[in-house]
Amino acid sequence: MLKCYSYDIVCQEIPDEISLAVNISCCPNRCPGCHSPWLWEEAGEEMTEDMLTSLISGYSAAITCFCFMGGDAEPSEVEKISRWIKSRWPHIKTAWYSGRAELPDGFDVKVLDYLKLGPYIEELGGLKSPDTNQVFYKVSPDGTLIKSHI
Ligand code: SF4
Repeated sequence: MLKCYSYDIVCQEIPDEISLAVNISCCPNRCPGCHSPWLWEEAGEEMTEDMLTSLISGYSAAITCFCFMGGDAEPSEVEKISRWIKSRWPHIKTAWYSGRAELPDGFDVKVLDYLKLGPYIEELGGLKSPDTNQVFYKVSPDGTLIKSHI
């Protein structure tokens, strides 16, 4: 079960979207120089349908996107919850900030509208750095990944 450590409304993580960004604990990636090491341990509230209904309902008129910040320990849960959000709130897009270098086998990327792949490497910087190793994609309805910029 994914756990929500914290959340915020953000405008910069996903271009042209107002996102409810949920920081997910139990990150397995252990990137050296990690900017959020408090997300390594298990902490926060379980992301059940009840919890998400309560959280998203409070912001559903204001947000255009739900962004999973992490969740690499349980990609199948990211996939399942993203599909559920899209069925419950069709106007809300979904995005996944993953620290993996590649999508996990069998992951149905069509449940997402946006995807960030790549671990954090301190000397290369995050998505806004010109040297970054991380890649941001828009996801086409057929699942094609289109490299994009934030
Ligand atoms: S993926 Fe993000 S939270 Fe996880 S170890 Fe890397 S930088 Fe830290």
